[in-house]
Amino acid sequence: MSNCIFCSIIKGDIPSNKVYEDDDILAFHDIQPAADVHVLVIPKKHIASLNELDSSDEKLIAKLTLHIPKIAKTLGLDAGYKTLINTGKGGGQQVFHLHYHIIGGKIHALESLKHIG
Ligand code: AMP
Ligand code: ZN
Repeated sequence: MSNCIFCSIIKGDIPSNKVYEDDDILAFHDIQPAADVHVLVIPKKHIASLNELDSSDEKLIAKLTLHIPKIAKTLGLDAGYKTLINTGKGGGQQVFHLHYHIIGGKIHALESLKHIG
């Protein structure tokens, strides 16, 4: 999608600090980290939010979800972490390209967590 910031990151038109990438998935550090570790995990397919998922996305979403603990492990989050998906304006979603937040370590910016909680 041309006016989607995360699609631009996938295309490489906007730089990102990548932590994992394959044919279907990209993970990169949040530009405004709200905690010691704050990574976003997205499908390369543009899906606006959980509300726009359909049954044809079943495999992709399963793959995305199954990669969360693998990515968390590479980030050193052995003690655990939080995951979060904001859905819709009322849910605090700002970027309308489906993404998991992986949040680990100390939360140091409660202000910036307001938009994701
Ligand atoms: P949400 O409020 O759930 O839609 O979260 C969107 C997240 O995307 C926020 O935590 C932003 O800090 C983050 N974000 C926005 N633009 C970028 C970018 N160019 N690179 C990395 N993270 C971004
Ligand atoms: Zn997109």
